[in-house]
Amino acid sequence: MPELPEVEMVKRTITPHITGATVVEAQVLWPGSLVNMTPALLRDRLVGARFITAHRRGKYLGLALAGDAYLVVHLRMTGRLTARPLKSTQERHLRMLITMDNGIALHFVDQRKFGRIYWAADRDEFLRIAQVGPEPLADEFTPQALAAALGGTKMKVKSCLLDQRRIAGIGNIYADESLFRAGIHPERSAGSLNEGEIFRLWQAIRTSLANAIEHGGTTVRDYVDGDGSSGDNQRFLLVYGRAGSSCTNCTGILQRIKVAGRGTVFCPRCQK
Ligand SMILES: [Zn+2]
Repeated sequence: MPELPEVEMVKRTITPHITGATVVEAQVLWPGSLVNMTPALLRDRLVGARFITAHRRGKYLGLALAGDAYLVVHLRMTGRLTARPLKSTQERHLRMLITMDNGIALHFVDQRKFGRIYWAADRDEFLRIAQVGPEPLADEFTPQALAAALGGTKMKVKSCLLDQRRIAGIGNIYADESLFRAGIHPERSAGSLNEGEIFRLWQAIRTSLANAIEHGGTTVRDYVDGDGSSGDNQRFLLVYGRAGSSCTNCTGILQRIKVAGRGTVFCPRCQK
Protein backbone atom coordinates (compact mmCIF):
# COMPACT_ATOMS: atom_id res chain seq x y z
CA MET A 1 0.00 0.00 0.00
CA PRO A 2 1.45 3.40 -0.91
CA GLU A 3 2.51 5.41 2.15
CA LEU A 4 3.81 8.96 2.46
CA PRO A 5 6.99 8.52 0.37
CA GLU A 6 5.16 6.75 -2.46
CA VAL A 7 2.33 9.30 -2.60
CA GLU A 8 4.94 12.07 -2.47
CA MET A 9 6.69 10.48 -5.47
CA VAL A 10 3.40 10.27 -7.40
CA LYS A 11 2.81 13.94 -6.62
CA ARG A 12 6.29 14.98 -7.77
CA THR A 13 6.17 12.93 -10.96
CA ILE A 14 2.68 13.88 -12.15
CA THR A 15 3.06 17.59 -11.37
CA PRO A 16 5.04 18.48 -14.53
CA HIS A 17 2.52 16.58 -16.69
CA ILE A 18 -0.59 18.27 -15.33
CA THR A 19 0.56 21.81 -14.53
CA GLY A 20 -1.17 24.23 -16.88
CA ALA A 21 -2.95 21.46 -18.80
CA THR A 22 -6.67 21.68 -19.56
CA VAL A 23 -8.94 18.65 -19.34
CA VAL A 24 -10.55 17.63 -22.64
CA GLU A 25 -12.26 14.41 -21.48
CA ALA A 26 -12.96 12.67 -18.19
CA GLN A 27 -14.26 9.11 -18.17
CA VAL A 28 -15.08 6.99 -15.17
CA LEU A 29 -14.98 3.29 -15.97
CA TRP A 30 -15.89 2.12 -12.46
CA PRO A 31 -18.19 4.57 -10.63
CA GLY A 32 -17.46 2.89 -7.26
CA SER A 33 -14.18 4.80 -7.18
CA LEU A 34 -16.06 8.08 -6.82
CA VAL A 35 -17.11 9.11 -3.32
CA ASN A 36 -19.09 12.32 -3.52
CA MET A 37 -20.15 12.71 -7.14
CA THR A 38 -21.44 10.83 -10.16
CA PRO A 39 -19.36 10.17 -13.28
CA ALA A 40 -21.53 12.71 -15.17
CA LEU A 41 -20.91 15.37 -12.54
CA LEU A 42 -17.17 14.71 -12.56
CA ARG A 43 -17.09 15.06 -16.33
CA ASP A 44 -19.15 18.22 -16.15
CA ARG A 45 -16.79 19.78 -13.63
CA LEU A 46 -13.52 18.63 -15.17
CA VAL A 47 -13.91 19.14 -18.91
CA GLY A 48 -12.50 22.58 -19.66
CA ALA A 49 -10.90 22.90 -16.23
CA ARG A 50 -7.18 23.59 -15.91
CA PHE A 51 -4.80 21.91 -13.45
CA ILE A 52 -2.57 24.24 -11.46
CA THR A 53 -0.43 21.80 -9.48
CA ALA A 54 -0.56 18.77 -7.18
CA HIS A 55 -0.47 18.71 -3.37
CA ARG A 56 -0.12 15.92 -0.85
CA ARG A 57 -1.58 15.65 2.63
CA GLY A 58 -0.77 12.37 4.39
CA LYS A 59 -1.59 9.69 1.82
CA TYR A 60 -4.05 11.96 -0.03
CA LEU A 61 -3.26 13.65 -3.32
CA GLY A 62 -5.01 16.90 -4.13
CA LEU A 63 -4.90 17.91 -7.78
CA ALA A 64 -5.55 21.64 -7.68
CA LEU A 65 -7.66 23.21 -10.43
CA ALA A 66 -7.94 26.85 -11.48
CA GLY A 67 -10.83 28.34 -9.54
CA ASP A 68 -9.96 26.66 -6.22
CA ALA A 69 -11.42 23.15 -6.64
CA TYR A 70 -9.44 19.95 -6.03
CA LEU A 71 -9.68 16.46 -7.40
CA VAL A 72 -8.65 14.36 -4.40
CA VAL A 73 -7.22 10.88 -4.87
CA HIS A 74 -6.47 8.22 -2.26
CA LEU A 75 -4.69 5.21 -3.77
CA ARG A 76 -5.41 2.86 -0.83
CA MET A 77 -4.27 -0.73 -1.56
CA THR A 78 -3.49 -1.09 -5.25
CA GLY A 79 -4.30 2.27 -6.84
CA ARG A 80 -1.92 3.71 -9.40
CA LEU A 81 -2.08 7.21 -10.83
CA THR A 82 0.11 7.69 -13.87
CA ALA A 83 0.46 10.39 -16.51
CA ARG A 84 1.17 9.09 -20.01
CA PRO A 85 -0.07 9.28 -23.58
CA LEU A 86 -3.44 7.59 -24.09
CA LYS A 87 -3.19 4.31 -25.97
CA SER A 88 -6.40 2.50 -25.09
CA THR A 89 -9.38 2.72 -22.78
CA GLN A 90 -9.42 -1.09 -22.68
CA GLU A 91 -6.54 -1.28 -20.21
CA ARG A 92 -7.10 -3.79 -17.41
CA HIS A 93 -8.36 -2.37 -14.11
CA LEU A 94 -8.60 1.15 -15.54
CA ARG A 95 -11.12 3.00 -13.34
CA MET A 96 -10.80 6.64 -14.44
CA LEU A 97 -9.18 8.39 -17.36
CA ILE A 98 -8.61 12.13 -17.63
CA THR A 99 -7.34 13.28 -21.02
CA MET A 100 -5.61 16.65 -21.25
CA ASP A 101 -4.88 19.08 -24.07
CA ASN A 102 -1.14 18.29 -23.91
CA GLY A 103 -1.70 14.76 -25.23
CA ILE A 104 -1.18 13.21 -21.80
CA ALA A 105 -3.87 11.30 -19.91
CA LEU A 106 -4.07 10.66 -16.19
CA HIS A 107 -4.75 6.95 -15.76
CA PHE A 108 -6.23 5.73 -12.51
CA VAL A 109 -5.71 1.97 -12.47
CA ASP A 110 -6.85 0.05 -9.40
CA GLN A 111 -6.96 -3.72 -9.34
CA ARG A 112 -8.60 -4.17 -5.93
CA LYS A 113 -10.97 -1.16 -6.31
CA PHE A 114 -10.30 0.27 -2.83
CA GLY A 115 -8.90 3.55 -4.19
CA ARG A 116 -11.16 6.58 -3.80
CA ILE A 117 -11.68 9.85 -5.66
CA TYR A 118 -13.33 12.89 -4.11
CA TRP A 119 -14.26 16.34 -5.25
CA ALA A 120 -13.38 19.28 -3.02
CA ALA A 121 -14.80 22.71 -3.84
CA ASP A 122 -11.86 24.49 -2.20
CA ARG A 123 -8.75 24.03 -0.06
CA ASP A 124 -10.70 23.83 3.20
CA GLU A 125 -12.77 20.98 1.84
CA PHE A 126 -9.63 19.20 0.61
CA LEU A 127 -8.22 19.44 4.13
CA ARG A 128 -11.50 18.19 5.61
CA ILE A 129 -11.39 15.12 3.36
CA ALA A 130 -7.70 14.61 4.10
CA GLN A 131 -8.20 15.02 7.84
CA VAL A 132 -4.93 13.71 9.20
CA GLY A 133 -2.36 14.57 11.86
CA PRO A 134 0.88 16.54 11.41
CA GLU A 135 3.13 15.96 8.40
CA PRO A 136 6.20 14.13 9.75
CA LEU A 137 8.61 15.75 7.28
CA ALA A 138 7.39 19.31 7.89
CA ASP A 139 9.62 21.75 9.81
CA GLU A 140 6.89 22.09 12.45
CA PHE A 141 7.13 18.39 13.23
CA THR A 142 9.48 18.60 16.19
CA PRO A 143 10.24 15.90 18.79
CA GLN A 144 7.72 17.79 20.96
CA ALA A 145 5.08 17.37 18.22
CA LEU A 146 5.77 13.63 18.16
CA ALA A 147 5.54 13.50 21.96
CA ALA A 148 2.16 15.26 21.74
CA ALA A 149 0.96 12.83 19.05
CA LEU A 150 1.92 9.81 21.17
CA GLY A 151 1.32 11.34 24.55
CA GLY A 152 -0.66 9.92 27.40
CA THR A 153 -1.95 6.77 25.73
CA LYS A 154 -1.52 3.15 26.68
CA MET A 155 -1.92 2.19 23.02
CA LYS A 156 0.94 0.25 21.49
CA VAL A 157 3.43 2.59 19.87
CA LYS A 158 3.06 0.88 16.49
CA SER A 159 -0.74 1.34 16.58
CA CYS A 160 -0.17 5.03 17.29
CA LEU A 161 2.21 5.40 14.35
CA LEU A 162 -0.40 3.81 12.05
CA ASP A 163 -3.15 6.13 13.32
CA GLN A 164 -3.44 8.78 10.58
CA ARG A 165 -5.10 11.25 12.96
CA ARG A 166 -2.00 11.25 15.17
CA ILE A 167 0.65 11.40 12.44
CA ALA A 168 0.05 11.59 8.69
CA GLY A 169 1.26 9.17 6.08
CA ILE A 170 2.92 6.33 8.00
CA GLY A 171 1.77 2.79 7.17
CA ASN A 172 3.03 -0.69 7.92
CA ILE A 173 6.37 -0.42 6.12
CA TYR A 174 7.61 2.82 7.65
CA ALA A 175 6.19 2.07 11.11
CA ASP A 176 8.32 -1.10 11.27
CA GLU A 177 11.36 0.59 9.76
CA SER A 178 11.14 3.57 12.12
CA LEU A 179 10.70 1.46 15.27
CA PHE A 180 13.69 -0.69 14.33
CA ARG A 181 15.86 2.36 13.66
CA ALA A 182 14.83 3.78 17.02
CA GLY A 183 15.41 0.49 18.88
CA ILE A 184 11.86 0.48 20.24
CA HIS A 185 9.70 -2.64 20.57
CA PRO A 186 6.49 -2.24 18.50
CA GLU A 187 4.33 -3.40 21.43
CA ARG A 188 5.59 -0.82 23.93
CA SER A 189 2.84 1.44 25.16
CA ALA A 190 3.29 4.84 23.51
CA GLY A 191 2.92 6.63 26.84
CA SER A 192 5.88 4.72 28.31
CA LEU A 193 8.47 6.21 25.94
CA ASN A 194 10.94 8.52 27.65
CA GLU A 195 12.30 11.74 26.17
CA GLY A 196 15.36 10.04 24.68
CA GLU A 197 13.26 7.36 23.03
CA ILE A 198 10.86 9.94 21.60
CA PHE A 199 13.83 11.80 20.12
CA ARG A 200 15.25 8.63 18.58
CA LEU A 201 11.86 7.72 17.15
CA TRP A 202 11.44 11.23 15.75
CA GLN A 203 14.81 10.97 14.01
CA ALA A 204 14.02 7.44 12.81
CA ILE A 205 10.67 8.44 11.28
CA ARG A 206 12.23 11.34 9.39
CA THR A 207 15.19 9.28 8.22
CA SER A 208 13.03 6.33 7.10
CA LEU A 209 10.65 8.55 5.13
CA ALA A 210 13.31 10.84 3.64
CA ASN A 211 15.50 7.90 2.55
CA ALA A 212 12.49 6.24 0.93
CA ILE A 213 11.72 9.39 -1.08
CA GLU A 214 15.35 9.61 -2.12
CA HIS A 215 15.10 6.01 -3.39
CA GLY A 216 11.89 6.68 -5.32
CA GLY A 217 9.56 4.90 -2.87
CA THR A 218 9.16 1.23 -1.95
CA THR A 219 7.74 -1.21 -4.49
CA VAL A 220 6.69 -4.43 -2.81
CA ARG A 221 3.92 -5.29 -5.27
CA ASP A 222 1.92 -2.59 -6.97
CA TYR A 223 3.45 0.78 -6.40
CA VAL A 224 4.71 2.82 -9.35
CA ASP A 225 5.24 6.58 -9.54
CA GLY A 226 3.40 8.95 -11.89
CA ASP A 227 5.71 7.99 -14.75
CA GLY A 228 5.05 4.28 -14.24
CA SER A 229 8.48 3.58 -12.69
CA SER A 230 8.93 1.27 -9.72
CA GLY A 231 10.70 2.47 -6.60
CA ASP A 232 14.07 1.25 -5.37
CA ASN A 233 13.69 1.56 -1.60
CA GLN A 234 12.74 -2.12 -1.12
CA ARG A 235 16.47 -2.87 -1.52
CA PHE A 236 17.23 -0.74 1.53
CA LEU A 237 14.57 -1.98 3.97
CA LEU A 238 16.00 -3.02 7.33
CA VAL A 239 13.15 -5.15 8.71
CA TYR A 240 9.97 -4.95 6.60
CA GLY A 241 9.58 -8.18 4.62
CA ARG A 242 12.74 -9.62 6.21
CA ALA A 243 11.31 -11.90 8.94
CA GLY A 244 13.58 -14.92 9.43
CA SER A 245 16.62 -13.08 8.07
CA SER A 246 19.41 -11.82 10.27
CA CYS A 247 19.29 -8.41 11.86
CA THR A 248 21.51 -5.80 10.19
CA ASN A 249 22.53 -4.53 13.63
CA CYS A 250 23.20 -7.70 15.67
CA THR A 251 23.48 -11.41 14.92
CA GLY A 252 19.86 -12.15 15.92
CA ILE A 253 17.04 -13.31 13.66
CA LEU A 254 14.20 -10.91 12.83
CA GLN A 255 10.80 -12.09 14.05
CA ARG A 256 7.27 -11.60 12.80
CA ILE A 257 4.36 -10.94 15.17
CA LYS A 258 0.95 -9.32 14.81
CA VAL A 259 0.40 -5.87 16.24
CA ALA A 260 -2.94 -4.15 15.71
CA GLY A 261 -3.80 -6.93 13.28
CA ARG A 262 -0.83 -6.09 11.07
CA GLY A 263 2.19 -8.25 10.33
CA THR A 264 5.10 -6.70 12.20
CA VAL A 265 8.78 -7.50 11.83
CA PHE A 266 11.27 -6.55 14.53
CA CYS A 267 14.51 -7.61 16.23
CA PRO A 268 13.87 -8.96 19.72
CA ARG A 269 17.45 -8.12 20.73
CA CYS A 270 17.71 -4.57 19.36
CA GLN A 271 14.18 -3.36 20.09
CA LYS A 272 13.32 -2.95 23.77
ZN1 LIG B 1 19.17 -6.89 16.15
